[in-house]
Amino acid sequence: MEIRDRILVVEDDRRICNFFRNVLEANHYEVILAHTGTEAFSMVTSRCPDLMLLDLGLPDMDGMRILKGVREWSMMPVIVVSARTHEKDKVEALDMGADDYITKPFGTSELLARIRTAIRHTRTGLIGQDGTQTGVFVSGGLTIDYDKHRVFVDGKDAGLTQNEYKIVSLLGKYAGKVMTYDAIIREIWGPNMKNDNRILRVNMANIRRKLEQNPAEPQYIFTEIGVGYRMAEAD
Ligand code: CA
Repeated sequence: MEIRDRILVVEDDRRICNFFRNVLEANHYEVILAHTGTEAFSMVTSRCPDLMLLDLGLPDMDGMRILKGVREWSMMPVIVVSARTHEKDKVEALDMGADDYITKPFGTSELLARIRTAIRHTRTGLIGQDGTQTGVFVSGGLTIDYDKHRVFVDGKDAGLTQNEYKIVSLLGKYAGKVMTYDAIIREIWGPNMKNDNRILRVNMANIRRKLEQNPAEPQYIFTEIGVGYRMAEAD
């Protein structure tokens, strides 16, 4: 028998629950539902889901509390589903260990893509590993050669500086996932540079000039306004 990934949907709105159940079951996921935070905690332990879709506005507790509680002992991917559009909430969720977030209303294909990315990243064990990446990352005309420490666009060396390369290779390692400004800055410049996005923005402007055909409409590295950057998925 086929083994299907099991998704725990934590959501108090029954109509949204039904929407998730229909979409996910049609795409061969097994779906379990929790309508409260208490139910969510008990299902995480009893049913061992492969991924959790977490609504932040629940009747008995804030979804952030669930995320925090689960992260104390589990690396299960969590995608926050939220009606909250404040960047602050998204950053807080990501910094607290959410793998991604999706803002209502959203499209089915976007939802499925985020789920696939989050599950794949756990399987390949990229998260939390400090081992250096090898091989190549390819997305459209963009190639990151992790062995040569070079980035190519349509076969031509993009001529990135060392820091520019570090930023691009980091985003490539987590392709499809949004990385917060703080997380990138901590990786590249260390913890003392925290809360200074300017240097990152300057680097990103230069990177885009070198990689993108039209830096105003990037194909490879997308801006999540007020949150961070996301690299396009690998081919
Ligand atoms: Ca809700």
